[in-house]
Amino acid sequence: METDKYAAYASVILDIRLDMTLDYGIAEDQLSQIFRGSRVEVFVRGKLQKGFILEIKPHSEFPGVKPLHKILSEGPLVPDELFDLALWISRYYCSNPSDIFRLILPPGIRKGMSDKEQLFVMRGKTREEIIKFCQENRNKKPAQVAILDAVLKITKGILLTKLLEESKGTRSSVNTLAKSGWLKLETVKIDRSPLIDEDYFMTKPKILNEEQDEALKKVVKSLQAHVFETHLIHGVTSSGKTEVYLQAIEEALKLDKGIIMLVPEIALTGQTIERFRCRFKEKMAILHHRLSQGERNDEWHHIRTGKAKIVIGARSAIFSPVMNLGLIIIDEEHEQSYKQNDLAPCYQARDVAVMRGKFNRATVLLGSATPSLDSYYNAHIGKYTLSVLNNRADTASLPIVTIVDMKKEMEKNKGMTNFSDALLSGIEKRQERGEQTILFLNRRGYHTNMLCQDCHKPIKCHQCDSTMTFHLNENCLSCHLCGYQLIPPPKECPNCKGTKPLKFRGAGTEQIERALHAIFPGIRTLRMDADTTKHKGSHQKILRQFGTGKADVLIGTQMIAKGLHFSEVTLVGVLNSDSGLNIPDFRAAETTFQLITQVSGRSGRGSSKGEVIIQTFLPENSTIQFAARQNYQEFYQEEIEIRKIFAYPPFSRIAKLVFSGKQAEKVLQAGQEAREMLIRTLPSYFEFLPVVPCGHAKIKELFRFQFMLKSPSLALLNQAFYGIKKNLPLLKSIRVSIDVDPSSTFF
Ligand code: ADP
Ligand code: ZN
Repeated sequence: METDKYAAYASVILDIRLDMTLDYGIAEDQLSQIFRGSRVEVFVRGKLQKGFILEIKPHSEFPGVKPLHKILSEGPLVPDELFDLALWISRYYCSNPSDIFRLILPPGIRKGMSDKEQLFVMRGKTREEIIKFCQENRNKKPAQVAILDAVLKITKGILLTKLLEESKGTRSSVNTLAKSGWLKLETVKIDRSPLIDEDYFMTKPKILNEEQDEALKKVVKSLQAHVFETHLIHGVTSSGKTEVYLQAIEEALKLDKGIIMLVPEIALTGQTIERFRCRFKEKMAILHHRLSQGERNDEWHHIRTGKAKIVIGARSAIFSPVMNLGLIIIDEEHEQSYKQNDLAPCYQARDVAVMRGKFNRATVLLGSATPSLDSYYNAHIGKYTLSVLNNRADTASLPIVTIVDMKKEMEKNKGMTNFSDALLSGIEKRQERGEQTILFLNRRGYHTNMLCQDCHKPIKCHQCDSTMTFHLNENCLSCHLCGYQLIPPPKECPNCKGTKPLKFRGAGTEQIERALHAIFPGIRTLRMDADTTKHKGSHQKILRQFGTGKADVLIGTQMIAKGLHFSEVTLVGVLNSDSGLNIPDFRAAETTFQLITQVSGRSGRGSSKGEVIIQTFLPENSTIQFAARQNYQEFYQEEIEIRKIFAYPPFSRIAKLVFSGKQAEKVLQAGQEAREMLIRTLPSYFEFLPVVPCGHAKIKELFRFQFMLKSPSLALLNQAFYGIKKNLPLLKSIRVSIDVDPSSTFF
């Protein structure tokens, strides 16, 4: 080590793609302005580059360290605990330090976007002149015309960021148009907070029932003690968990603490947000993926400066720089959407929340009608404090559930059928009484596949290992993995060019809707799935229509399974309750139980008694039985035993390594070599599963193989995995992703 020339040293993570940090020297006079996370400029091979400071340290191991050129940001960007959390995540989930900044700083802040000054764009010439220009230049200058088209749609003017988003245009086209006088640009100061100007009627806290009160008291106790403690509220659907959250937030505000509440993305609808808006006068930041970059920036500043004390958001809101964070709430804590699967780091927001609670000495509150096995186990062994709400909060009681054996229905109807007699008569009764029905089916489209009657193979996507779904409205076959479409669907089999007509199989939501209209002419239906909710706001619109009685039946996929509260719904039909049970994954039963219980929970939330009909080919299956009885305890007892016997989480920890690349043999080989290397280097208590094709064995031309390894404990897995990615023997053409605590061990 050379003698320390500088007051201190900074390891800097650069914006350019480089997986390691570089050290730079900090001068005495820079020391007071420099923090972890500071934005800085440094020389790399004679060129100025921007980056962030990851660590400030007294020494550097490297010789010839250059001075830090310039500090670009004022003060610390993020609170210290948040920074520690990010470092923990990078270690725990084996991800690069550069991924940290993606998590804790929104893109606009990272790039140093100015916070409230924005360019406002207006027309520079008359509408008529612009229309003429567009007509004449549609082919010659498509980029400029696209922008003017968007400008023509508005009456006065539009923010530049919004214009670029809507027209998919570039800044340089806008500049050209401004120079030639077609557009006028003006700098404005603006607050982009999405909830601004909205008025709400305030609601008062409800008087809690005994169970709710007891749960709240426990939470308040740890809030007041300023200690880290995790609570789990296991409350049946509609037992008033949300009311407990609301009152816990109120208590936290009294103690001048900041609050983060996570909800599943899909639940970030008007319904949820309004319930929170109506209770608190304090400013609230709502974070969801539909926010523009500018809106996200503003919200971030509101949170960072303490202006917004309450943050409600999906998964990534757990990284909000909330001041004096005292309470973290995770609603529907069992939801798999809290786990990020597709992008490193593959973090589980619920686990991150507990860790953040620890760093911040905050109270963590998890709630669900169907807790994840992991959380319930933690409550069972005393790591979490458990509260139970056994009854529905208002006058409503839990619905009556019937299981229908679809094999018998098929015999009765002499063939395949989508609806049991019981379900049909139930729907008819609701229609007569003016009540509503929800039908759940976790497959969208019309037919789930097309089968060749000569070679007996289904039509598959040419880029993926997946069967294609027929969509009647668009008259196409579509791949749900990559979005590839065949319009119209082929008439003959692309495999064998056979002569027999192709056969359609399997019903999706689209078919169910049509079939209902055929059976009950005049029935009013709404459908909610990925196909009907492509457009911004369509999701809300469907829910609003259903809520105001514009339809008798709502048909939908997972999207309708949770969080919805419609008091006129007295019948829920689960059409293919067992489809998830066939997936070879140790969580299959857990997921199925949760799904059925949650969907069932949408029934009978008002004054009339609710009913649920579960259609299944496995009427004896214990998971279906437990879900029908809405008996979480029984389900837990059975399932936890199985996990114990097979040493699955929570009795072990799993990491999944997925390898992908263009040539199947090379990918397989890479997987095997990596596995062998790990077997040689890791202690023998690690259990290695074989390398197998992933559940989706090919996506977008990339072949995918995976293997899993099990570790008896978390700490051991972490130690073993530290820095592992760098040491894997891998070709450049092969990508690897490491998923610690994966939500699926199959796909
Ligand atoms: P959950 O979050 O468990 O699904 P909610 O908090 O949404 O339950 O409560 C379900 C319904 O019961 C809501 O309409 C809510 O306003 C009402 N409710 C909750 N707590 C009470 C209470 N203590 N007294 C009366 N009604 C309540
Ligand atoms: Zn595909």
